Amino acid sequence: MKVGIVGSGYVGSATAYALTLRGIVREIVLIDIDKKLARAHAEDILHATPFCHPVWIYSADYEALYGAEVVVVAAGVAQRPGETRLQLLGRNAQIFEQVIPRIRQHAPDAVLLIATNPVDVMTHISFRLSGLPPERVIGSGTILDTARFQALLGAYLRTAPQSIDAYVVGEHGDSEVLIWSSAHVGGQSLFSYAERRGMPLSEQIRKQIDDNVRYAAYTIIEGKGATYYGIGAGLARLIHAILTDEKGLFTVSIFTPEVEGVPDVTLSLPRILGRSGVETTLYPPLDEEESKALHHSAALLREVTLSIGYT
Ligand code: ADP
Repeated sequence: MKVGIVGSGYVGSATAYALTLRGIVREIVLIDIDKKLARAHAEDILHATPFCHPVWIYSADYEALYGAEVVVVAAGVAQRPGETRLQLLGRNAQIFEQVIPRIRQHAPDAVLLIATNPVDVMTHISFRLSGLPPERVIGSGTILDTARFQALLGAYLRTAPQSIDAYVVGEHGDSEVLIWSSAHVGGQSLFSYAERRGMPLSEQIRKQIDDNVRYAAYTIIEGKGATYYGIGAGLARLIHAILTDEKGLFTVSIFTPEVEGVPDVTLSLPRILGRSGVETTLYPPLDEEESKALHHSAALLREVTLSIGYT
């Protein structure tokens, strides 16, 4: 099994490393406009393989993507001083206009996994540029936000996060929506479970958890400049689900014809992931407040996408 990674900076290389430690692929190709960087990461990770799994990892050009089943796109540029988010987005869109057609040319059968931020908009652009069906152009979306939500609830309720059905949907960013109303543990509502455990979810606790999920990236960036281990592990987990045809549930971002009255928008919802990409979407039950918040998130994403010329 072969995976390509285009853009081998922090996120791309962390994904390659996580994949290598998992041992689920045989071959990884790293591509970057900075060839020295791609080669250095490939060599460094190759030297880890005797300690874990026999993965063949190397840097190369686009032709080497031939036969890749999944291609991760983590290419992008950092914000310049004084640059607006929209200007940055315009520059990243230009990069994707070069990169996506080249990936399509050399790996026509691959599922695309988009990781560059703002990930929902970049996934929308990739979908339009690729001509692929939406289920094969998948953004990492809110997978990390959902993981953070489950982890924080798990810590508070002293319950394994794996046993908590709670999801974050919408934009991967400030407008994301934590779905509290239909969250469950073992068939019971989250709230009644919390009461039974003697650890009720007061408004104050909810606000604390919400803030820690929504703004986690800011704290990490303040401390070390970038976030990459979490997302690298998350992307490796998505690749595992695709390559094994797992049909597991993940809050990934794909083009969606309608969300809370907003047409043609790319954002995260709970979706089943298998060999051919997203197989189905489970539209979650929402209360009135959550439904309004998801509408707001969708409208915001659509506005940004339109403002850079993508319908
Ligand atoms: P992140 O933290 O999101 O991974 P980085 O800046 O570390 O951000 O990584 C982005 C990578 O994308 C860089 O290594 C950069 O060289 C690469 N890149 C930028 N433009 C292109 C391009 N046109 N093609 C391939 N890679 C690119």
